[in-house]
Amino acid sequence: MKRRDFLKASLGGAALLGAGAAQGRGNLEPAEEAIGMLFDSTLCIGCKACVSKCKEVNGMPATPLEDETYWDAARDLSHETLNVIKVYQEGDASIKDAAENGFAFEKRSCMHCVDPGCVSVCPVTAMRRDPKTGIVTHHPDACIGCRTCMVGCPYNVPQFDYDNPFGEIHKCQMCNQEGVARIDQGGMTGCAEVCPTGATLFGSREALLEEAKRRMTLKPGETYNYPRGDVRKPESHHEKAVPAYQNHIWGEKEAGGTNVLHVSSIPFEKLGMPPLEERSYASISETVQHTIYNYMALPAAALAGLTYIVRRNTEDEDGGES
Ligand code: SF4
Ligand code: SF4
Ligand code: SF4
Repeated sequence: MKRRDFLKASLGGAALLGAGAAQGRGNLEPAEEAIGMLFDSTLCIGCKACVSKCKEVNGMPATPLEDETYWDAARDLSHETLNVIKVYQEGDASIKDAAENGFAFEKRSCMHCVDPGCVSVCPVTAMRRDPKTGIVTHHPDACIGCRTCMVGCPYNVPQFDYDNPFGEIHKCQMCNQEGVARIDQGGMTGCAEVCPTGATLFGSREALLEEAKRRMTLKPGETYNYPRGDVRKPESHHEKAVPAYQNHIWGEKEAGGTNVLHVSSIPFEKLGMPPLEERSYASISETVQHTIYNYMALPAAALAGLTYIVRRNTEDEDGGES
């Protein structure tokens, strides 16, 4: 076999690899009618009404402390806690929403990512993103319990029920799973419905983002009428002095963005949010997969080329002998 022919076969495979890299995708765009929530840490008073309501909506038991004197003292997400309020404390923790010597509350539940890693890595499409609303739901009937979604989520949201011999993944379904369907019936999420201060606000992602951006422009100390319930048709408002917000809307861009947005007066890294780039995990991993698959095409193409050339040479030799 001639070296020129070998190189030709190899370069054909390399061209395929280049084409594969070009096929890598960018972040998904928000769904056309994306639904979400805005959590404003500065409005949260830590009452945990949202935690209790979430359990009620999802038929989950309370998580009491060992002495059972407290109602629902869940400290973190679990298979029976899909929404939790965490506490930030620094120094003597005497000033609300201050980074130094202060305290603040932070909500943890599924962020309903615009380009969800959990959906991207699930091998059996048990995690799905609704193309219309962007709501990300888990479907136990399709789930094989491999727990790959737990690895694909940058927020450690999907939780596995290790106590159940058949196992099962649990996460916030934005109160829109089978048997609940609050959103499909024109309602709002349980946690937003009961929040007394509007710290958890429901609505379209577009309207929530607009509200969050408005808050960034307010002067600290001036009075603002904060809406409660659904930002598009608030049940009520309450007046409150504007805090010194961080000029950062979490979820506007992080890892491709989220439908659940957060604002705060304390830097998000102090509130335990993960360091994330703007590019989504899903777009990175799917680009790598494309490239690897096409990389596998390189030896295949080279082998096909070599087989052809060897066969042709053999036929030439045979032809020469006869
Ligand atoms: S119900 Fe509202 S104020 Fe109470 S803990 Fe939940 S988010 Fe905070
Ligand atoms: S926060 Fe995690 S579980 Fe929720 S949609 Fe994003 S990747 Fe999926
Ligand atoms: S949207 Fe529903 S399931 Fe999700 S945290 Fe709120 S109450 Fe819980």
